[in-house]
Amino acid sequence: MQRPPSVDELARKLAHHGLPHPLLVEVARSAIANRCVDDADDLVRSRTRRLLTPVINATGVLLHTNMGRAPLAHQGDAQYTNLELDLASGARGSRQAAIGELLATATGAEAAMVVNNCAGAVMLALAAVAGGHSVAVSRGELVEIGGAFRVPDVMALSGAELVEVGTTNRTRLGDYRKAVDQGAHAVLKVHQSNYRIVGFTEETSVRALSTVDVPVIADIGSGLLDSSCPWLDGPPPRWLEGEPAARQTLRDGADLVTFSGDKLFGGPQAGIIAGKAELVAACGRHPLARALRPGSLVLDALQTTTMAYLDRRGGDIEFWRMAATPVHELERRANDLAVRFGSTSVIDTHAVPGGGTLPTVSIPSRGVRINADQTSQLREFDPPVIARVDKGATIIDVLTINPDDDWVVGKAMESLGASIVGAQTNAKEGLS
Ligand SMILES: *Cc1c(COP(=O)(O)O)cnc(C)c1O
Repeated sequence: MQRPPSVDELARKLAHHGLPHPLLVEVARSAIANRCVDDADDLVRSRTRRLLTPVINATGVLLHTNMGRAPLAHQGDAQYTNLELDLASGARGSRQAAIGELLATATGAEAAMVVNNCAGAVMLALAAVAGGHSVAVSRGELVEIGGAFRVPDVMALSGAELVEVGTTNRTRLGDYRKAVDQGAHAVLKVHQSNYRIVGFTEETSVRALSTVDVPVIADIGSGLLDSSCPWLDGPPPRWLEGEPAARQTLRDGADLVTFSGDKLFGGPQAGIIAGKAELVAACGRHPLARALRPGSLVLDALQTTTMAYLDRRGGDIEFWRMAATPVHELERRANDLAVRFGSTSVIDTHAVPGGGTLPTVSIPSRGVRINADQTSQLREFDPPVIARVDKGATIIDVLTINPDDDWVVGKAMESLGASIVGAQTNAKEGLS
């Protein structure tokens, strides 16, 4: 029987994989302990695949939570910034000042500020506006949004006391008024981002709530900036219909709106609070603001995104560039992919916004179908290509693929050596 190599010996043998030595030592130790020294190369490869790395999203889910929601540039050399330096006076400034002004202009608010995510934004807004007091929320809006954001839990953490009003399907203005008469300090309205109540329903609009005598905080979550989408060349996409937008919600009388930076806003993970100057200032002064403050990487990405909105350069925001791609363009790209594999057929697909937004919406798109479930082989490609499975076939949806990556996807498909099924042109994928 051969003696197993020493941990150090094995780790050195694995050095060509390019992982730092301490990680190779961990792998080597576990390979020896589990008597699978021959598999050590595979173990290193799977260790490497756990690292954060770019992937190609071929799922047709525009805001895929598992892939970081909105696509974002990750780059830049090390450098200092004026994060908290006031260049005019040379004194200490606020990291919130510049981004707050930009977001205020973009949303039509008096003021705005940024925290790490929308859950944090809601918690901070509640703590600053109504900490230690009660806040009225509709029973139809006590929602859980992916990643265990549960409105009652966030309220409890904020120190505000939840007062449930109305019923699951119907909540009227009078229900809120009663709670306010009984001492509620604020009203929280939560967008039912990821589900819909249909049938015998009634909800109270922000406009109606603005007649109540306490601050109205509207958590719109999804982060649509303006329902008229002035940053797009064409009209707003039809699938956005009915989605609350920050500008219109404020105009309707919300005192504060909160939304995510990485959903329909198309920027980095962040939580944005916009609205009345005095309330935003109260949020900024609250001790939680320090715990939730974003770093310069986030602020830099958010500023870039906000400037693109202000310049009406929707095409420079990758989410909107993809979301606004005309179907004939998607069809051409899907055709190019299909033609490369000796087939001229593409399929109609149903892409979705994702990210816990617009649960009932589908976006017409195009893709190619490869027989059998080959998603795990595609994930092994470098860079990994993430596709989805429908009725036992692999679907590659081009909507969420950057056109510059089409050739990479083609290479990944070539690596499968698979034939593309789909004799009929434009075979329907079907919504199952
Ligand atoms: C997504 C969402 C949140 C949570 O946002 P994060 O940025 O993920 O923290 C909160 N409220 C609503 C209504 C949402 O849609």
